[in-house]
Amino acid sequence: MSIETLQFQAETKRLLDLVINSIYTNKEIFLRELISNASDAIDKLHFESLTNREILGGDENFEIYVIPDAETKTITISDNGIGMTRGEVISNIGTIAQSGTKAFLEKIRESEGKIDEELIGQFGVGFYSAFIVAEKVELITRRAGENSAVKWASDGAGEYTLEDTEKNSRGTTIILHLKPEFCGGEDFDFTNIYTVENLIKKYSDFIRYPIKMNFEVEDADKNKTVEVRTVNSMQPLWTRNKSDIKPEEYEEFFKHQFHEWETPLEIFHTKAEGTTEYTALLCIPKHAAMNLYYSDYEAGLQLYSRHVFVMNKCKDFLPDYLRFIKGLVDSPDLPLNISRELLQQSREVKKIGKALEKNILKQLTKILKNERERYGEFWREYGKSLKIGVYNNAYDEKAKDDLKDLLMFATSKEDLSTLEEYVSRMPESQTKIYCATGKDKAQISQMPQMELLRERGIEVLYLLDPVDEFCIESLNKYADKEFQSITREDFSLDDAESQKTKSEVEELAKSHENLLKDVAAALNGAVSEVRLTPNLKTGAVCLSTGVNGPSLNMEKTFAAMNNPFFKAQRILELNPNHALFGKLSGLHALGKDTPEFKNFCELLYTQALLIEGIMPDNPVEIANKIADLMAK
Ligand code: ADP
Repeated sequence: MSIETLQFQAETKRLLDLVINSIYTNKEIFLRELISNASDAIDKLHFESLTNREILGGDENFEIYVIPDAETKTITISDNGIGMTRGEVISNIGTIAQSGTKAFLEKIRESEGKIDEELIGQFGVGFYSAFIVAEKVELITRRAGENSAVKWASDGAGEYTLEDTEKNSRGTTIILHLKPEFCGGEDFDFTNIYTVENLIKKYSDFIRYPIKMNFEVEDADKNKTVEVRTVNSMQPLWTRNKSDIKPEEYEEFFKHQFHEWETPLEIFHTKAEGTTEYTALLCIPKHAAMNLYYSDYEAGLQLYSRHVFVMNKCKDFLPDYLRFIKGLVDSPDLPLNISRELLQQSREVKKIGKALEKNILKQLTKILKNERERYGEFWREYGKSLKIGVYNNAYDEKAKDDLKDLLMFATSKEDLSTLEEYVSRMPESQTKIYCATGKDKAQISQMPQMELLRERGIEVLYLLDPVDEFCIESLNKYADKEFQSITREDFSLDDAESQKTKSEVEELAKSHENLLKDVAAALNGAVSEVRLTPNLKTGAVCLSTGVNGPSLNMEKTFAAMNNPFFKAQRILELNPNHALFGKLSGLHALGKDTPEFKNFCELLYTQALLIEGIMPDNPVEIANKIADLMAK
């Protein structure tokens, strides 16, 4: 039959225009796509041969060849798979059947010509991706079991030709006549055997069939010979049986694939079968990335579909708080050609992600129970992430429930303690979990409120990271016990003695009502209230904050985030048993408007501020007032 010229289907034409004229960010994907087609074609033949052995014609060595050639400016990809008949070429290569591609075109139409680079870059367009790098493509194919072959050729501009040809073995050979910018240059030289070899290793290492290349080698006498080498390792580590994989193999894998430079802290290798099929190989790196909590950190898992690389950094599997997890997911339920947008909506991805998250938390629980020290290591690196997880799930009781037992805090008694452990040490009379916020342990242990707690032997959770308080607020309760900040206005101890002192102090406050009001007035709105407190022993003053609104530390955090409107409600608390209180009363009796009384109030408040690590607004004035007082 002579050469026949045919038109591409309208949709195909549009797709080709797009591929040829678009700013395809990822020039390399054509190789992955064509190799993956070749592998599928071999799969199909293999499948057919199960019921029809004849079809193999004695050739059972499945293989894919990739031959870059600088002289002819071509790269050839050939396979000995199923091949295509003339009719199949017309229906497969001239038309678009695939729903994914149709959806892709739909998206492009919706965007009214504004092409999203990300979308295009991630969206494989199968065979047509050849036109990203080629000005002309030839495809020669012979269906397994047939004698005749057909040659298809096109420059991608609306038409293609078909002619009968000779081919001495089954399968498909695709010759890409490369555009000049893809031969011989510094970047993207697809005629360079090493560039191509690296691309195969990068994208197609785990293809199940050997991908072979011809390497020219020189012997000692400088005679050149061609050596055929298989470039891909063929067996993905994650598809092997867990029990056959040595620890160092896992280690090597993570080093190779994820640029880890240390042995991971934990490795997860899971295979799931059933409605959703997947294999995941994940790790917790030994150390958290320096930029883990910064916006330039790229979280996400690598995605494979039937061992073929689909994308890096797929963010849709794991929740943000597990952003430190590295690894890959391989699932036949996810198509190769899938955009990031479609992935986000994918039910499979959600299902796999949920299962992975559950598995990770289960494993962490196990480490906490059985390998306390290693859990400590994990916690020091990633504890913040889990606390962020609680905060991010403030309205999701189930999610908080899953995380609460994995949390650890420093306490006044332990370096690191879980909430369960804290509760187990609580004396019977204690009904709440006490906590205090500060920049370090030393600062908290010196707080005047701590004196009484120490005397009663009551343990306090130390909230040292700004996220701690947000996490505790989101949890609200643990084992039915409320969290109680020792710097909140409603703090008091539960034991009988403390309750007695509390009512005595309340009585005393009644008889000093005017004094307390006048102190507040003298402070000119800096505090919302002045009170007498039963919570101080030797300290004269402290600050507490209202039950509604943020704490002083939260106020600082908000201010650092450029949100100065979240103000803590400040309450000045005075120790009625301290000598300064007697002095204050004396000055008050001499007149609430005297400078002595006003200055005394201001200095008391400043002390309370300093204890909280807050600088007064007018430090020089305050220093002068202290100097005056000392000189008297
Ligand atoms: P997809 O592979 O996603 O279906 P392609 O555009 O890459 O889309 O290929 C279209 C069809 O062409 C394939 O489904 C397959 O039937 C056929 N095809 C492509 N490459 C080969 C090949 N190397 N051998 C046999 N058939 C092929």
